[in-house]
Amino acid sequence: MLGATGAVGQTFIRCLAGHPWFRVAEVAASERSAGKSYAEATRWIEGELPADVAALTVTPCDTGSVRSPVVFSALDAAAAADLEPAFAHEGRVVLSNAKNYRMEPDVPLVIPEVNAGHLAILEVQRRNRGWSGAIVTNANCASTTAAVAMAPLHERFGIRTVFISTMQAVSGAGYPGVPSLDILGNVIPYIKDEEPKIETEMQKMLGRFTGSAIEHASFVVSAHANRVPVEHGHTTCLTLGFERKPTVEEAIEALREWKGEAIVRGLPSAPAMPIRYRDEPDRPQPRRDVMDGRGMTTTVGRVRADNILDLRLVAMSHNTIRGAAGGSILNAEVLVQTGVIARSGAA
Ligand code: NAP
Repeated sequence: MLGATGAVGQTFIRCLAGHPWFRVAEVAASERSAGKSYAEATRWIEGELPADVAALTVTPCDTGSVRSPVVFSALDAAAAADLEPAFAHEGRVVLSNAKNYRMEPDVPLVIPEVNAGHLAILEVQRRNRGWSGAIVTNANCASTTAAVAMAPLHERFGIRTVFISTMQAVSGAGYPGVPSLDILGNVIPYIKDEEPKIETEMQKMLGRFTGSAIEHASFVVSAHANRVPVEHGHTTCLTLGFERKPTVEEAIEALREWKGEAIVRGLPSAPAMPIRYRDEPDRPQPRRDVMDGRGMTTTVGRVRADNILDLRLVAMSHNTIRGAAGGSILNAEVLVQTGVIARSGAA
């Protein structure tokens, strides 16, 4: 685990406790933390710190210190830039949460229920870069919430235009994150670098793998990103225009019936339902819905007609689980299924 001491790193450790296929063998972070025990280096935020991880010594994030074949990365973008490719070059499979490589043409940007098929681009990546390892990325947490809700609708009706306004939880800013006096009782209508990610990543994820490249979907996105005083769970209000306009009932049926790509079903971190559609007029709500499917289900509600485009709806999911650590672990489970990660542990 690279960046093991941060908000996403800690979520990885919680999600991997008792995992049937992966064991946290090594924890790495900055020079500030290296050499300390994990318990000493980390201000553990939530729940019980697993005793076996607490006792591990934090190492620096270099390929000599970290020997594991599977590398979950919760690094800051500045650190990820050089470190992640170095691990891939050394034959490790890197599951990255950082923004650096998401939009590279030969790097898969994956929410497995939506586009597990894009993982086939790894063959091109390895050929292009001469890596025996690989980098697989997952998306920005707000893009993830929206892309899951949009996937069933795009499949059936073709999305043409997206207007999105987000209400993003404080845990999305890492730890210690936003100062309490800035966020308590407040809304901040700006999250640095967030809107450009939301405006580009969804087209890649909802795009098509041609056999040699990922062809991006052609819809346009206009995004407003807001930070709100919620602990976990990004809420996104979406207004959508379609190629073939569905009725409200048809859109709800598509959301209810969607199961996502078959390869994901039954995997250890896969939720029973990738989307839960709720009929109550005041849902989804982070406080009530964020842990649905152990934090891996996206809750959608309020599908209704729109006066400017075709339909509007609200989608919400857990930013550090579905939008980061849990999503990365599910990607790794698909890579085990497809043989990219060998079951013996050797990549
Ligand atoms: P965070 O709480 O600030 O944690 C950052 C981690 O990176 C810490 O473990 C830190 O170690 C380590 N680090 C920082 N500089 C380093 C360096 N030069 N060398 C090695 N390690 C270094 O951030 P976070 O929220 O967990 O986010 C981690 C990554 O996930 C970011 O790229 C972020 O954009 C992405 N992401 C976050 C979310 C979310 O909801 N939070 C969702 C999706 C993606 P020390 O403790 O030693 O400083």
